[in-house]
Amino acid sequence: MSTARTVLETEEHQALRAAVAALGKRYGRDYMTTVVREGKHTDELWAEAAKLGYLGVNLPEEYGGGGGGMAELSIVLEELGAAGSPLLMMIVSPAICGTVIARFGTEEQKRRWLPGLADGTLTMAFGITEPDAGSNSHRITTTARHDGDDWLLTGRKVFVSGVDIADATLIVGRTEDARSGKLKPCLFIVPRDAEGFGRNQIDMELQAPEKQFELVLDDVRLPADALVGDEDAGLLQLFAGLNPERIMTAAFGIGMGRFALAKAVDYARTRQVWKAPIGSHQAIAHPLAAAHIELELARLMMQKAARLYDEGDDIGAGEAANMAKYAAGEACVKAVDQAVHTLGGNGLTSEYGLASLITASRVARIAPVSREMILNYVSHQSLGLPKSY
Ligand SMILES: Cc1cc2nc3c(=O)[nH]c(=O)nc-3n(C[C@H](O)[C@H](O)[C@H](O)COP(=O)(O)OP(=O)(O)OC[C@H]3O[C@@H](n4cnc5c(N)ncnc54)[C@H](O)[C@@H]3O)c2cc1C
Repeated sequence: MSTARTVLETEEHQALRAAVAALGKRYGRDYMTTVVREGKHTDELWAEAAKLGYLGVNLPEEYGGGGGGMAELSIVLEELGAAGSPLLMMIVSPAICGTVIARFGTEEQKRRWLPGLADGTLTMAFGITEPDAGSNSHRITTTARHDGDDWLLTGRKVFVSGVDIADATLIVGRTEDARSGKLKPCLFIVPRDAEGFGRNQIDMELQAPEKQFELVLDDVRLPADALVGDEDAGLLQLFAGLNPERIMTAAFGIGMGRFALAKAVDYARTRQVWKAPIGSHQAIAHPLAAAHIELELARLMMQKAARLYDEGDDIGAGEAANMAKYAAGEACVKAVDQAVHTLGGNGLTSEYGLASLITASRVARIAPVSREMILNYVSHQSLGLPKSY
């Protein structure tokens, strides 16, 4: 692993990895398990990571960030995940919302939000998924209409993470003039306590501190400056946020996969039921080796996507971010599955804490864009094959 890192990452990147890994180690899986069991949130880790400059590492320096990009932010999430304590809200708060505001927000919006997103005192959730649209975001119906200088926003969202702990949610809607047809998205900052902004927690079979919510927006009145960017800018602004989301989900998957793999390797080295440790049997060793290779390959694609994005190549980053998310999702699911199997019965005990990752790892395959939708994208965009839907 170290060879690949020195070839592809600067000394600063390697130092960042080491520093975040050290922070992660101080919290780790036990911290997450306790937080989940007690129904709490990751406030301490969030605050400490922010104080050390990790959460805002991608945001512009003039607004309190670290002046880096997705290369750095993905390192932070990967390393926290590899330590067993990933911060899911990093995918939405600094990565999607911070990036969109930094790139398309007004000066006032940048001053209002970016310093807080960077120092962790403000958190923003992101809502695009709708019950009747799902993977087909061109079908979203959350609609904004003008009322004097204000906007009135109406619609429904599902599976939106962390709305309870976020100060506001960046909601993807469309204007009344573009109510149907190809999506011309508009992004609105909706404060948590806005009148008409209701939320219901969805019962998920996930052991995670971040909860998912159904949102009901019933004529939520928003000032003119709740709109981020240009109402006619189209998809470009949205993808400025969605590519970071995919890169960060890749980091989330790689981190979780590494965590599970490390546990399995540790176990396979020491567990002995015949003459030698179980790790000497190739039926155990080879799938773990394959999992390691696949995680490394996924990281390579994530680094490519981050580099392209940070260099301003939104189109190139789009393809690479999709591929990275796909590769990481698959590598994560396989690594977790193999890790659980390696531990035999202990793979299912609470003491070893791996079984709950079977469900958690599926998140990297389903969200924010499913495995099949990425295969569709690559079939059409990269290979030029015809569309079936
Ligand atoms: C833990 C978690 C957190 C989430 N957090 C957020 C969040 O913060 N904000 C937010 O907006 N959303 C969030 N989501 C929603 C997530 O992005 C969606 O679940 C995802 O985009 C898939 O949409 P869907 O669930 O409606 O599935 P559907 O679109 O109904 O798809 C169901 C299945 O059909 C397949 N499918 C659909 N269309 C096609 C096709 N054309 N070809 C082949 N297969 C197809 C899909 O691959 C999938 O396997 C979260 C989801 C989870 C599980």
